[in-house]
Amino acid sequence: MKGAVLFLISLQVLLLSCQAQNRPSPAIVIHGGAGTIERGSMSPEKEVAIRADLQMALDTAYALLESGETALRAVEAAIVMLEDSPHFNAGKGAVMNIEGRHELDASVMWGQDLSAGAVAAMSRTRNPILAAMAVRAHSPHVLLAGEGAESFAREQGLAEVDNSYFTVPMVKQRWEAGKRTGEYNPASPADSKFGTVGAVALDLSGNLAAGTSTGGMMFKKYGRIGDSPIIGAGTYADNATCAVSCTGHGEYFIRLGIAKDVSDQMRYAEIGLEQAAKHSIHDRLSSLGGSGGLIAMDREGKIAMEFNTKGMYRAYKNESSEEVLIYEAP
Ligand code: ASP
Repeated sequence: MKGAVLFLISLQVLLLSCQAQNRPSPAIVIHGGAGTIERGSMSPEKEVAIRADLQMALDTAYALLESGETALRAVEAAIVMLEDSPHFNAGKGAVMNIEGRHELDASVMWGQDLSAGAVAAMSRTRNPILAAMAVRAHSPHVLLAGEGAESFAREQGLAEVDNSYFTVPMVKQRWEAGKRTGEYNPASPADSKFGTVGAVALDLSGNLAAGTSTGGMMFKKYGRIGDSPIIGAGTYADNATCAVSCTGHGEYFIRLGIAKDVSDQMRYAEIGLEQAAKHSIHDRLSSLGGSGGLIAMDREGKIAMEFNTKGMYRAYKNESSEEVLIYEAP
């Protein structure tokens, strides 16, 4: 009898340790936009500040994952921090449209059930990513825009600010210089930095999530909405394949459905994450003439960070390593 009990106990211990070994280890990747980001193009102080903000968002999100929080919650936390940072084109620090106002877009997707939420052309909600989270969790819809999105966010109790809250001096100066010289063309943002922010994460339960938030593109007009709030273009997550968040010239990402393109290659062609991400950026996007990049993660926690621009603010952390990167060559 005693022998049988001991046998059962050791069997249970063995089972538990097997489960622990099979448990996915958490991982997070974030980005702060791709673009013409070259060594020496910003002051050393600014680079230090940008790296510090990326690191803080990374650490906060990773700690949440380690404590057992969902990938969605980690993505939300990272993006809120990057929206609150003045260094990125999302939330505070967002670019300005042709009229000198800020219009913000954001989206999230949960890989477990393919549920998603997104908002577009928001001008008062302080953290658009929280509005996207609320659309996913508390509405029967996927995408709300403009005044309707704003009313919904207010009903959800989200903080509102004056549109000028999003303005930072550097963006204002760029906008004023462009206005003065007329040297801007919203359709050809060759010199742009696409400072959109995004995150993808894998949690302890093996669920993937993705999110993206942006001010869009400088001097955009006519109520222009980019790829960031479009599920399948700027954001996608499916536990069966991967989670993706994009940054770049949104019109191209929409036309190519880039985020879902990565997932589709994995699902239908059984291509691995890295190869799929490379193909979407360097073959599909580049051959159409678009520029930008993406971060992606598969259900094993493998990551991809691809871009066809000079640089992309990006960072990742998992149980074995972490890095904050800006330029093409580390
Ligand atoms: N993709 C964004 C947009 O087109 C811009 C960016 O990535 O910064 O709105």
